[in-house]
Amino acid sequence: MTTRTPLMAGNWKMNLNHLEAIAHTQKLAFTLEDDDFEHVEVAVLVPFTDLRSVQTLVAGDKLKIKYGAQDLSAHDSGAYTGEVSGAMLAKLGTHYVAVGHSERRQYHGENEALCNAKVKAAFANGVTPILCIGEGLDIRKAGEHVPYTLTQLDGALDGVPAAQAATVVIAYEPVWAIGTGEVATPEDAQEVCGAIRGRLAELYDREVADAVRIQYGGSVKSGNVAAIMSQPDVDGALVGGASLDADEFVRIVRFRD
Ligand code: PEP
Repeated sequence: MTTRTPLMAGNWKMNLNHLEAIAHTQKLAFTLEDDDFEHVEVAVLVPFTDLRSVQTLVAGDKLKIKYGAQDLSAHDSGAYTGEVSGAMLAKLGTHYVAVGHSERRQYHGENEALCNAKVKAAFANGVTPILCIGEGLDIRKAGEHVPYTLTQLDGALDGVPAAQAATVVIAYEPVWAIGTGEVATPEDAQEVCGAIRGRLAELYDREVADAVRIQYGGSVKSGNVAAIMSQPDVDGALVGGASLDADEFVRIVRFRD
């Protein structure tokens, strides 16, 4: 059985300008202790305009806090006004990029084909995609959450070779739990995260399935993170609102305490 280092990632969404990002990252860097990084990997997914500021700060911290973007273009370069390429992210030392966050799917019409192209664009540039998948409330109520989420997984990983798939991060984020305060139970999270790992074994093999980190996301807070993290197939958390409070995010990172 592969040992997976949990990834605790804060998704700042469209919050914190580059000056606020500096203050917030400094607070994280001062508060987090070396010990914290022995058990988990810590990352912040920041607006594009913050990447350079965060890079400059954490480079001096021996890159203990990793950083990522919240989206990327499926294209490498060219006439795509407003887009940011994987190559541009890579040039800024960006470790991670979220792909297919439910807010991108909801407000920007991102579908499986586009998520698939973005996953491939991230890998092509050496940036690790955090692929976000998860069902809405209607699907959950209909009891279709597992097949629905697995269909999103299949689509986004179509044609992705095993060597890359083994390094992808999957974030299971039930849409009804994002920003609502409505957290999934640990058992709910485990049911879908376990099914995702099972499907990875079918799509690839057991070794790939055991290597992939699967996060839970949706109203994670310091008060509920430990129970969620105790589930065998949950390897981290994608934290939205609560990551904007540096002290709270540090408490989440220290979920074992
Ligand atoms: C998210 O933005 O991915 C998220 C899970 O948000 P929140 O923690 O606020 O529900």
